[in-house]
Amino acid sequence: MSGPVRLVMLGRQGAGKGTQGARLCEHYGIPHISTGDMLRAAVREGTEMGLRAKEVMDRGELVSDEIMGGIVSERLAQDDAAGGYLLDGYPRTVGQAEQLEKITVDAPLSIVVDLVVPTDVVLQRLVSRRVCKSCGAIYSVDTPPSEGWTCDRCGGEVVQRDDDTPEAIQKRLDLYERETGPL
Ligand code: ADP
Ligand code: ZN
Repeated sequence: MSGPVRLVMLGRQGAGKGTQGARLCEHYGIPHISTGDMLRAAVREGTEMGLRAKEVMDRGELVSDEIMGGIVSERLAQDDAAGGYLLDGYPRTVGQAEQLEKITVDAPLSIVVDLVVPTDVVLQRLVSRRVCKSCGAIYSVDTPPSEGWTCDRCGGEVVQRDDDTPEAIQKRLDLYERETGPL
């Protein structure tokens, strides 16, 4: 592809958006913009938005389109996104897709990749998933970091996400079908 690569990754939880997205970003030299990682960072920093988002996230529900539109348009306006980017976890509703169309009107998307993976596979991946609290790197109980639960990339603590419980996983998968499926 010539010119900036502006890529959207779709695919339900556990499909591999984070893992494959990181590889594509390295290949193209573009920033990996994960709205889930951005929200978890806001939660850790204890911002007002983060505190409100945490409750919604722990229940496995979606943060409002209004908040998401603000977060994404601000992020895409930063300098490092001028040469392209990969969006992971956004858009997730038809309303957000319409927002994104407006946000990118002067610099349209290059490609959308939809990762399609069977349900039994994603369930197995999600229950065994572990993530770095600091940089979002993804591991699993089957492929842990090389030393204890310390991130190979940044030295951060590798943990299970608060919303990777069986109940919240099922709820997020159902919500994906309903809200993101139409995209
Ligand atoms: P998952 O795909 O497993 O739900 P993410 O890391 O993408 O995980 O997001 C974690 C949580 O953050 C979501 O369950 C949701 O509450 C919130 N979130 C992330 N991205 C969005 C979005 N685009 N719209 C609404 N909520 C979002
Ligand atoms: Zn890390």
